[in-house]
Amino acid sequence: MSYSVVWFKRDLRLSDHAALTQALGQGPVLCLYHVEPSLWRSADAATQHYHFLLESLRDLYLEIKRRGGVLHVVAGEAVDVFDKLYALKPFHSLYSHQETGNALSYTRDRAVASWCRLHAIPWRQSQQFGVTRGLKDRDLWKDLWDQYVGQPCLPAPAVIPWVDLPWREPALPKAAALGLDVAEPSQRQRGGRTLALEVLNSFLNDRSQQYRGGISSPLSAPTACSRLSAYLTFGCLSLREIVQATSLQLKALSPAQAWHKKGLTAFISRLYWHCHFIQKLESEPEIEFQNMHRGYDGLRENDWNPAHFEALKAGQTGWPMVDACVEMLRETGWLNFRMRAMLVSTAAYPLWLDWRPVGHWLARQFLDYEPGIHWSQLQMQSGTTGINIPRIYNPIKQAQDHDPNGVFVRRWLPAMRRVPDTWLLEPWKMPHSLQTQHNVYVGTDLSVPIIELEASTRAAKEKLYALRAQTEVRSAKRAVVQKHGSRKRMTTVKQKPVSAPASQQQTLDF
Ligand SMILES: Cc1cc2nc3c(=O)[nH]c(=O)nc-3n(C[C@H](O)[C@H](O)[C@H](O)COP(=O)(O)OP(=O)(O)OC[C@H]3O[C@@H](n4cnc5c(N)ncnc54)[C@H](O)[C@@H]3O)c2cc1C
Repeated sequence: MSYSVVWFKRDLRLSDHAALTQALGQGPVLCLYHVEPSLWRSADAATQHYHFLLESLRDLYLEIKRRGGVLHVVAGEAVDVFDKLYALKPFHSLYSHQETGNALSYTRDRAVASWCRLHAIPWRQSQQFGVTRGLKDRDLWKDLWDQYVGQPCLPAPAVIPWVDLPWREPALPKAAALGLDVAEPSQRQRGGRTLALEVLNSFLNDRSQQYRGGISSPLSAPTACSRLSAYLTFGCLSLREIVQATSLQLKALSPAQAWHKKGLTAFISRLYWHCHFIQKLESEPEIEFQNMHRGYDGLRENDWNPAHFEALKAGQTGWPMVDACVEMLRETGWLNFRMRAMLVSTAAYPLWLDWRPVGHWLARQFLDYEPGIHWSQLQMQSGTTGINIPRIYNPIKQAQDHDPNGVFVRRWLPAMRRVPDTWLLEPWKMPHSLQTQHNVYVGTDLSVPIIELEASTRAAKEKLYALRAQTEVRSAKRAVVQKHGSRKRMTTVKQKPVSAPASQQQTLDF
């Protein structure tokens, strides 16, 4: 009996699963997931990702079982597993979703494509997000995204006629056997579609009322934000089903619920950004390693300061807001957008650290690590895209704006609980008499800032702006905008061609 293979990747669900639906149209299927050791050895992989994956696979296994099928999870490199399977039990086609991953998964996909060609096996890849493979023209992108999310979601199949694996697979490797560090955040989100649906429902029906106004502070953000990112990254939910469920909820709300509606509209725009950023890596995989604007090559690469990096990773920069974020990340695997941006901006400007090692460290810290969003954001917050106005977040001002009473820093940095309110923003300046009075000492209980914030930020800005001002750097910006820039403001500009000089027209939000 011939059959097709459905290769589950970062699409761990049955609903709106185009690859599975198409394969079932051809007859019985072998549902397969590979745990690929070479991918788990990568600098961006972490135990929390592996455990979230296993939880999601367990959920998927049960969903498939309920429909009379079986999910086979096999440890091994994709080509090796396909080769063995084909030799023992030849299959006629391979189905999966497209994946915009890191360089390793891209190389793996090319190897699988060659293997398929060699064996004359068609490999049909369905679109996973509103990301277009082989996009020719960025101007068309927004319409393509609208078309993609507007198509009806595919229902989960009622029955899955299945094919067995022709060998007995041993137990899956533990995280340590894959070379992963044992530590993981104790309070991270758990994987699987069942939980993903609960999180989606609680957000749409209730928590999204706080979305507007609640997403910037690290105090309100953990409940005001959707918290769907990891479920999107692992594909427990499809992007399209989230967009469509949100649109339905928007329609159900009354005009009196205008604030709630605004929150949901803002949320949909984030889902658009999700794909907008992943498209950048899809169109130019090199941005995982190289500056998006090559004119910024050499900006920080040769000034690497290991002491700064170690202090950042240890949460000992001395700036309470930064150190508290590092602690929260270590314990939960999640931070809201603004705090992520502040962490990277602190790394990139006052600490003057190159985005690549910082990005690998953060990729392991973020449970929702999504290469396309991550590397684009790392570059954007470090000022190497060349097309964004550099945003430099001052950690003291962020504390003032988003944690004025010190609730957040005291939650994550126990020593800060003994610091009186007056000294919350700059505790290292506390007079010695007060340190004794409150039994909290600068240098032992509290870190002293490793660098003077104002002067180091000014020096960083000067270096960046000197480069930005160079004629070659300015003129090379146009090509980056053409390839990656959002067309939102460009559209407005096209309608009013005389409103601003060309250089300003290309200053885009993201
Ligand atoms: C340096 C840096 C690195 C980041 N790395 C990642 C990453 O690896 N994976 C990831 O999913 N997000 C990343 N983000 C974007 C953003 O911080 C997270 O998506 C968000 O905090 C996730 O929480 P949420 O699902 O509750 O967000 P919500 O605010 O509820 O947003 C809903 C969804 O929209 C998308 N989204 C939200 N904000 C952005 C954004 N600015 N850019 C692109 N997509 C967005 C995400 O898919 C998110 O799940 C990064 C941001 C920065 C500044």
